[in-house]
Amino acid sequence: MLGPPFCEELPPTQEFLADSLPLAMSTEPAPSILHVDMDAFYASVEVRDNPSLAGLPVCVGGPASGRGVISAASYEARKFGVHSALPSAEARRRCPDLVLLPPDFDKYTSVSRQVMAIFRRYTPLVEPLSLDEAFLDITGTERLFGDGEEVGHMIRADILRETGLVASVGVAPTKFLAKIASDLNKPDGFCVIRPAEIRDVLDPLPVSKIFGVGPRMTQKLNALGVQTVGDLASLQREDVSSRFGATGIWIHDLAHGIDNRRVNPKREEKSHGMERTFAADLSDQAELRQFLLSFCEEVAFTLRDKGLRGRTVTLKARFGDFRTVTRSKTLDYPTNLGPRIFAIAKELLQRVDQQPLRLLGVSVSRLEDVRRPQQQSLFNGNPSGRDQWMESNSRLIRATESLDRLRKRHGRGIVIPGSLVGRAQPSRGAEQVLEQAPEAQPDLTNSLLERLEQESEGGNKTPPSEGEYGA
Ligand SMILES: [Mg+2]
Repeated sequence: MLGPPFCEELPPTQEFLADSLPLAMSTEPAPSILHVDMDAFYASVEVRDNPSLAGLPVCVGGPASGRGVISAASYEARKFGVHSALPSAEARRRCPDLVLLPPDFDKYTSVSRQVMAIFRRYTPLVEPLSLDEAFLDITGTERLFGDGEEVGHMIRADILRETGLVASVGVAPTKFLAKIASDLNKPDGFCVIRPAEIRDVLDPLPVSKIFGVGPRMTQKLNALGVQTVGDLASLQREDVSSRFGATGIWIHDLAHGIDNRRVNPKREEKSHGMERTFAADLSDQAELRQFLLSFCEEVAFTLRDKGLRGRTVTLKARFGDFRTVTRSKTLDYPTNLGPRIFAIAKELLQRVDQQPLRLLGVSVSRLEDVRRPQQQSLFNGNPSGRDQWMESNSRLIRATESLDRLRKRHGRGIVIPGSLVGRAQPSRGAEQVLEQAPEAQPDLTNSLLERLEQESEGGNKTPPSEGEYGA
């Protein structure tokens, strides 16, 4: 099956481990977390804007004639077994009357802004997870707006009145439970999980509902006789942790409703970037690209270090006369890999007047947590297709992991492209490989790997997870 790339078995963060006991035993009032999720978002926006489509099986996605996949399916389409990430051709086969529309991300983004602005009326603690989904922490705002249940109803009503769209809302003491809750009665769902109800709600759910339990771990757990969340909760914590390590502790805690992740509004619209003002204005394009490459590697490393990845790459250029321009491009998929960022940045550099530059910079924004599952159909319009992309991505990730081990041990400069494409001994070869299509990059990563495997002994030989990884 064409599953979207994601980190299947996520490691708990240090932050989580450090936080876990003190908060669980604290006497603070239980937090009130909302998870708000728009129903069949892209498809619903299209139906709203073309009411003649109401009641029809509507999908947004790539063309059925090529290798397109479904991005969003209306609930009418889901009755035919059509769902996101399904190849469009297969969707058409399952539902011959399918209305398949091309995505209009500008439109979805502007609706998303409207929805996020509604959330912020009720609390500044809004953590968007995607265009159509966010966590809200309304702990402490009860006196202003009422409790979680009341706020949830008000938000749903605001969204419907102001955007004409329907959202599902879950209210609970933790993020994990709030997300479970919003999913329970979808679409048009509303569900509150109170502390006393946690066991009743969790116990019967399949264990795969636990955040971080992907298909592989589900299989392993099933083999141990663990089918439901209740089964997992009844195991000894030590047994689960000795079998699955830190991930075991994480999922066992979740099975008990323990989840101390806080709603993190800082994630939103942050960016990471790097720029440099040159001692003398630079006009040599090859030299500019070399700087750009090292910036991209550095920015990518920082993103990985923080467990983030981003979708929008912005290039900033300042000319000798201080005129400053920026050029941006948004990827279909978020990344934290240097070569991916560089491929875009280089393209953006070509769109800047070829005059001497005083300053050059690159930044990545639209950031998200690497642990967030990727839900979109990422490969519409990518002629090389998902499989090839995944393969080249896996190699890039492996090479990057090796590089990061060296960076962490010997300092960053050791392996950033200063040594790859250093100006003292210009190795145009490395840059030329990077300049080719992403599909050609494994050539570079293979040679890097060979070199690195000699340099870094042993290390982590496990295959990379499908998603790009974090710290
Ligand atoms: Mg949704």
